Amino acid sequence: MSTRNEIILVVEDNVQIRNFITYVLKEEGFSTLTSSTAQGALTAIVTQHIDLILLDLGLPDFDGMEVIRKVREWSDIPIIVVSARDQDKEKADALDTGADDYLTKPFSATELMARIRVAIRHLSKIGMNKSQPVLKVGELSIDFDKRQVTKNGEPIHLTPMEYNLLSLLFKNMGKVLTTQYILREIYGVGYGTDTQALRALMAGLRRKIETVPAKPHYIMTEIGVGYRLIDE
Ligand code: CA
Repeated sequence: MSTRNEIILVVEDNVQIRNFITYVLKEEGFSTLTSSTAQGALTAIVTQHIDLILLDLGLPDFDGMEVIRKVREWSDIPIIVVSARDQDKEKADALDTGADDYLTKPFSATELMARIRVAIRHLSKIGMNKSQPVLKVGELSIDFDKRQVTKNGEPIHLTPMEYNLLSLLFKNMGKVLTTQYILREIYGVGYGTDTQALRALMAGLRRKIETVPAKPHYIMTEIGVGYRLIDE
């Protein structure tokens, strides 16, 4: 068992899920704190050093969404929301409120660790405040200085909007981005509801970067929420 420095707060009122999560985290060498209520979570967050929060939204005292709102008033600590399968709207709302990612119940230990690794990697990148000029995923590569995208070393010609979209996804590699967030970032305020435009733009981008656009390998659709560029 390896030891890590990060302390993870697990906020979950279901005992079995809470025990499962803490078991997996401890196996991976993380330290954990737990709370079964929103109030308990807020108390822990203000009184202890915590590096990441795993947050169930359906809590007995008040809604997990309220915890996200309160924490975001003064902290950028990564929050991964844990929610039920049929709550797409809630997931998108949680991300737009300031959560970094989400896990859908039931989830495996592998999925849990994948999400945590992404969140912690982003945290250390922010900490170093260092932007990399070239990023790679699989055969795809993006050069931010040259605004150039290549696949297997071959340049791919993208429109400026397609480039902006792919660049946004690369800068958030492994993280899910909501449709609303993407629209705001690439079209600006005022175009925030034109999901049809984004779908068309995404289709065009996928035709250029994916081998089989209907079965994307790089940009995953998170149904009812948004899109995620894979992180290898
Ligand atoms: Ca619950």
